[in-house]
Amino acid sequence: MPSSATHCSKRLHADPLYFVLIGPGGAGKGTLAAELVAKDPTIWLSRSWTTRAARPGERERRAYEFVDRETFETAVAAGRFFEWAEFLDYLMGTPVPDPPPGSDVLLEIDVQGAEQVLAKMPDATVILLLPPSPEVQAERLAARGDDEVHIRRRVALGREEVDRGGELAAYTVVNDDLQGALAELTAIVDRTRTAANRAVNPEEL
Ligand code: 5GP
Repeated sequence: MPSSATHCSKRLHADPLYFVLIGPGGAGKGTLAAELVAKDPTIWLSRSWTTRAARPGERERRAYEFVDRETFETAVAAGRFFEWAEFLDYLMGTPVPDPPPGSDVLLEIDVQGAEQVLAKMPDATVILLLPPSPEVQAERLAARGDDEVHIRRRVALGREEVDRGGELAAYTVVNDDLQGALAELTAIVDRTRTAANRAVNPEEL
């Protein structure tokens, strides 16, 4: 039994469930995703590729696979991405997932990527994470080293992410307190797993 608050003692569904975390920059998706996988080792976090430059510390914690545009485009042509999108002026993509057996998949991606995932997997659970206010969002963006121009562009783009994301998402979580948001996310995962298990074998639950 994992150390998480997962209520399902048995996993009955054979195929991995897909959880897709979306939301504007500064919502705290990366932190929340890292906390969730630390809490529940049966959730496998996909590592994206990007053509943007690494921010301080990102290379060390292997936040992304940092590649140049040519390498990325070659991988696109070879069919190596599950989804990919142009975000601001760089490319971001999820390699075709290869989770270990018994794990569910967590993607932390933008709204364009979420649309592609839903087109392939209509049962994917999309969760929209919101910052508590535009002020807190801008503070979080500044704290991670984004400059003024990028912060403004991201806040503007963020409004679009919220509008489009709201149409895709089954759940919305406001990240005003990390532990509270983590508890909500854990409850969503538990509920989805329970429903998937019940669909496979209603007798066992
Ligand atoms: P950032 O530059 O802030 O790391 O990421 C920019 C946006 O791209 C964020 O919304 C982030 O969630 C999203 N993103 C990260 N990885 C991927 C990916 O593999 N595919 C897509 N479509 N978006 C991604």
